Amino acid sequence: MNTLDCYKVDLKGISVGETTSFHWHVEDDFFTAVQGTEITRGSLDVDLEVRQRAEAYELSFHIEGEVAVLCDRCLEFMDIPIDADVLLKAKFGDEYDDDGEMVTVPQDEGIINVAWHIYEIAALEIPIRHVHPDGECANASEDGLWETAEEQEEQKIDPRWAELRKILDNNNK
Ligand SMILES: [Zn+2]
Repeated sequence: MNTLDCYKVDLKGISVGETTSFHWHVEDDFFTAVQGTEITRGSLDVDLEVRQRAEAYELSFHIEGEVAVLCDRCLEFMDIPIDADVLLKAKFGDEYDDDGEMVTVPQDEGIINVAWHIYEIAALEIPIRHVHPDGECANASEDGLWETAEEQEEQKIDPRWAELRKILDNNNK
């Protein structure tokens, strides 16, 4: 069985006037299975309520948790909090289509797999520029190394000054 099969929602099983609720908790293995490029780790609670309206099915997602993405500055992982409410609509048609707001689900199948939608909702929550707070990047320690190198440089110069001082001292005698 495919890891993502549990994210299938059988729209034909949803009756008019009823709200059907789904809950998933997704972890790193979900992101591995979805194979998105931006998010590879995370922990999210996903609540989905599905209603059948006259013109379409309404899928209301509430997604909360944390995902890890690479910091733009130091390329180490950083956590991004996720708290998103997104409404997606679905209708039946001849073949699968997804324009971002309306998903067309093949009439004869009647099933929508929301795994990719869960991923996309989380991915859209990530700010375009995402960096650690100042001083918390992994290369902050590189700054530390740089300072150490400067200190070493000073230590190299010090003996010369000591030599010069000796000469000056001798001249003053
Ligand atoms: Zn960073």
